[in-house]
Amino acid sequence: MENGARNGGSASVTGNGNGDGALAPHVAMLVTPGMGHLIPLAELAKRLVARHGVRATLLTFASTASATQRKFLASLPAGIESVSLPPVDLSDLPPDAAIETLMSEECVRLVPALTGILARLRETTRLVAFVADLFGTDSFDAARDAGVPRRYLFFPANLHTLTLILNLPELDVSIPGKFGDLAEPVRLPGCVPIPGPDILAPLQDKSNPCYKWMLHHGKRYHEVDAILVNSFDAVEPNAAKELRLQKPGRPVVYPIGPLITTNTADDATPRAACLDWLDRQPAKSVIFVSFGSGGSLPTDQMRELALGLELSGQRFLWVVRSPSDQGDVNANYYDAESKKDPFGYLPDGFTERTKDVGLLVPSWAPQTKVLAHPATGGFLTHCGWNSVLESLLHGVPMVAWPLFAEQRQNAVMLTDGVGAAIRVPESKGRSKIAAVVREVMEGEGRGAAVRPNVAELQQAAVDGLRDGGVATAALAEVAYKWTV
Ligand code: UDP
Repeated sequence: MENGARNGGSASVTGNGNGDGALAPHVAMLVTPGMGHLIPLAELAKRLVARHGVRATLLTFASTASATQRKFLASLPAGIESVSLPPVDLSDLPPDAAIETLMSEECVRLVPALTGILARLRETTRLVAFVADLFGTDSFDAARDAGVPRRYLFFPANLHTLTLILNLPELDVSIPGKFGDLAEPVRLPGCVPIPGPDILAPLQDKSNPCYKWMLHHGKRYHEVDAILVNSFDAVEPNAAKELRLQKPGRPVVYPIGPLITTNTADDATPRAACLDWLDRQPAKSVIFVSFGSGGSLPTDQMRELALGLELSGQRFLWVVRSPSDQGDVNANYYDAESKKDPFGYLPDGFTERTKDVGLLVPSWAPQTKVLAHPATGGFLTHCGWNSVLESLLHGVPMVAWPLFAEQRQNAVMLTDGVGAAIRVPESKGRSKIAAVVREVMEGEGRGAAVRPNVAELQQAAVDGLRDGGVATAALAEVAYKWTV
C-alpha cells in the first residue's frame, strides 16, 4: 500500500479508502533514510492506529527507496499510508559527505514540498500532529508553515544519545577540542561515563559538516512540543530519571519503547530457510551474527570474524555482507542489499569446514524471528539501537561489535551500564573474538552475569509494554493530548 509512487517529481497523497479518514485524528511522520529509522516509526504508527484510533501517513525520502524498504512499506496495515517525497538534487555535496549530512541536507531541501504535502493533509484529514525523526528537525518549519498544531520529535536511539545531543550546544563550548583526545570520559547527567573515542561518531571530527548538523539538530530539539524515545527505563534508569525532570527550555521526554517490529514483510513470504535450519539446532546453541541494515566490515576484520567463529566452536548464523575497505562501515546504509557476492570474501575452505555448525545468509535475515527462535542463544551485534532492543525483548545476551553512529556509546552503556553484553576488544583478532563468543554462549567468566541481567531487562521491557505498563501509559498520554 505504498501510495506515494513518484509522480513527475511530486509526491502523491492518497487516503486508504476506509471512508472515515477525514474524521479520525491523523498524524504525519517524516522518516529519514534507514531501515533502523523506518521500522520503529512504523511500529509507533501501528500502535497509534491499533490502540488509539489514530491514522498515520509515513513520509519517506526518495533517496531511500530500496527493495527492502518498498517491501516493508507494502506490508503495513490499513490506517497507515506511505508517501515517497519528491527527489531532491544533492549533486553539489562532496562524494564523501557523511550520511548524517546527506539526510539533513535532503530534509532541509524538502521543506517547500513538505509544506505543500502537509497543507494538503490538513485540508483532507484531521491532522493533529507532525512527528519527525532525529535528522529531520528542519521539517518542523514545514509543519509550522502548514499550520500543523503539534510538532513532536521521535528519537529512535536511546536516552543516552538524546542526552548527549540535547547537551551538545553546551558541550560545543565547554569541550573545544576533539572528543577523541579527552583523557577523561564524558560525564552527562544520568548517563554512564562515555570515553571520548566512543562518543557518537559524527561528533568526532568537528571540522566535518556533519558535526555542525548535529549541533544544529541539538539546538532544534529544544523547540519541539515533546520527544518520544524508543527506549525504556530499566535499560538506562538514571538517564530516564533525569530526563523525566521538568526543566525550563527542555521538552517533555516520553520513553515509549521498546518498539520493535511485530510483524514484517517476511510474514507475507515463505518461511525463511534459516529458520528451518534453526529448528534443527539445540536450544540456545546458536549465535546470530549481524551488523544491522547497512553495516559492513573491512575485509581483514571479516576474515578474523570468520576464523574467530570457527575457533569458538559455537554454532552460528551469520548475515554476510560484502566488506568495505574505505573506512566506510555504513557502505550499504541507503540500500541493504550487498552489491557483490559476499561469500567470495570469506577465508578459503571456511564454508566447507563449518558447514555442520554454521549457516551463512547473504545480506538480510528475518532478525526478530531469528532472535525469537529457541535455538538462538547469543547475538553478535553492531549495537544499532533497534537490534539491541530486539535482543533484550527476546532475552538474548549480546557480543558488542560497534561500527558507526552511536553504536560505540551503546556498547559502553550495555557493558559498563546494565551488563547485557561483552564487547569484542578493539584489536578484533580471531582468538579474542572466539573467547568473547564463548563467554557469552557458555556463560563463562563475564558471561555468567550477562544472562541474568538480560533476563531482568527482558522482563522489564515486556512489563512496560503490557496494558497499563509504563511505555503503554506514556504513549496513551501522548495520544490523549493529540486527540482531545
Ligand atoms: N534487520 C533485519 N535483518 C537484517 C538486518 C537488519 O531484519 O538482516 C533489521 C533489524 O531487525 C533492525 C533493523 O533492521 O530492526 C536495523 O536497525 P538497527 O538500529 O539495529 O541498525 P541500523 O540498520 O540502523 O544500523
